[in-house]
Amino acid sequence: MAERPDLDYALPILAEALSGRVIEEVVVKDPVVLRLMEEGTPEELLVGQRVTSLARRAHFAHFGLSGRDLLIAPMLAGRFDLGKRGGRRRKDTVFVLGLGDVELRYRDDVRMGKVYVCPHERWTDIPGLGTLGLDALDPDVFTLDAFSARIRKRRDQVRLFLMDKSEVDALGNAYADEVLFEAKVHPKTRCNKLSDAQVEALHRAVPAVLAGAAAELEARQPPLDEKLRDFLKVRNRKGEPCPRCGARIRVAGVRGYDSFFCGSCQRDGGSSGLIDWSRVGR
Ligand SMILES: [Zn+2]
Repeated sequence: MAERPDLDYALPILAEALSGRVIEEVVVKDPVVLRLMEEGTPEELLVGQRVTSLARRAHFAHFGLSGRDLLIAPMLAGRFDLGKRGGRRRKDTVFVLGLGDVELRYRDDVRMGKVYVCPHERWTDIPGLGTLGLDALDPDVFTLDAFSARIRKRRDQVRLFLMDKSEVDALGNAYADEVLFEAKVHPKTRCNKLSDAQVEALHRAVPAVLAGAAAELEARQPPLDEKLRDFLKVRNRKGEPCPRCGARIRVAGVRGYDSFFCGSCQRDGGSSGLIDWSRVGR
């Protein structure tokens, strides 16, 4: 899934390549990803539009155009790619904008992402963008008080809270697991059962994990269409040794999503009814 660090890395590169350019061509390879929030065809709505701004909104890339807005949520498998106009496109390309000699390609081999076209100021009507959570990398906003006030109101599993983009801007599946690992909190712990020390640990871990990922991407400069994840400590590492204690990384389902964690350093605390893995051996 393209998450905040991926978008924070990719968007300045896209802005550099596309800002000020005019859309001359639109190719919709798979209309299933497209959501038009005004009357008209994609060509009528997009051709002739100039790219004026580019910003991240939760897990969306928000292209400000001269007459309307274009927002793309890459979701599970979506990725951006820049290419030469008329050059060879990968098979998983679903949406293309031609701007001068450059092409912006949106690739998504599972078609779970969405491309929205909407009038200015209507982007907040897009599902998931009505209310944005605390910006985790703005220390003036993401204070311990503000974070505690939000997490203390919830009774559901802490991983669901962390992934709720109306609460925290923004963590997806991969970085929620990394934050829980960093804070040594079991993913199924109920928010109302967290100790003050655990809330403080989570509050420290959220920006630390996101900033760490941002620094990693910045240092390694991966190609735009590559999702660099090899530095993650627990995500997709089932059965591998925990980098902190050596116990094996386990997987639990939280509302249908896999959550990766260390059963030894992320203790359940008895609040979720899970087996205490540390007692049944490794
Ligand atoms: Zn461990």
